[in-house]
Amino acid sequence: MALLETHALVASYGDFQALFGVDLCLEEGETLAIIGANGAGKTTLMRSLSGVLKNEPDAIRYRGEAIGALTAPDVMARGIAMVPEGRRLFPSLTVEENLLVGTYGRKTAGPWTLDSIYALFPILQERGRSPATALSGGQQQMVAIGRALMSNPDVLLCDEISLGLAPVVVRDIYAAFPRIRETGAAIIIVEQDIAQALKVSNRVYCMMEGRITLSGKACDLDRDAIHKAYFGAD
Ligand code: ATP
Repeated sequence: MALLETHALVASYGDFQALFGVDLCLEEGETLAIIGANGAGKTTLMRSLSGVLKNEPDAIRYRGEAIGALTAPDVMARGIAMVPEGRRLFPSLTVEENLLVGTYGRKTAGPWTLDSIYALFPILQERGRSPATALSGGQQQMVAIGRALMSNPDVLLCDEISLGLAPVVVRDIYAAFPRIRETGAAIIIVEQDIAQALKVSNRVYCMMEGRITLSGKACDLDRDAIHKAYFGAD
């Protein structure tokens, strides 16, 4: 049984259909990347998995349980945490307070505490009492990742964590992923940077216009196939 899977997942915004029957599976401990152009439906898929968008119960299964119709807090309580696109930190709270927010949804003992988050991203300890908004974009992304980890998730969903950041900052953030994987967490990353996605993931799904157009092991996918699945044209 897969850890997390979708079956014929659909999603709409009013009359606009954004996902058309997405089948995806995530295995225990695996890192999966979802790539695709703007508007392909990647964020919609992540919002469905995290309970922000409601679905048919059976469209999403987690450890065999139908979770498609659960609310976001109920999904988080089961161990699926999201690092949302645009970070969505609480601007009036300090860095430390933002991190602690992650513990409210799930009171589960595990590897992640303030101390271990500070060991992962030492700059956050230095800036712990600063308002989150006083930090650079990269540091704010570290807070958003730390906040999600504070719930000690079994599945970490990361939506476009490198968007708008300098390459050197992206490198620093992805340097934390081996440590996150060591804890046994499975990870889904949404990335527009294909090279980055292939580098950090075991398997890749490519989306276009609300559908999965290609999937496979990161090491097996060739550039032409990815290009076609990403852009549609030859
Ligand atoms: P991006 O890289 O731009 O975030 P994406 O692959 O994550 O793209 P989505 O954000 O999931 O794509 O959007 C999929 C489609 O749904 C797009 O056509 C988008 O315009 C539309 N869409 C997304 N959010 C909404 C919304 N709140 N209301 C209406 N349409 C939406």
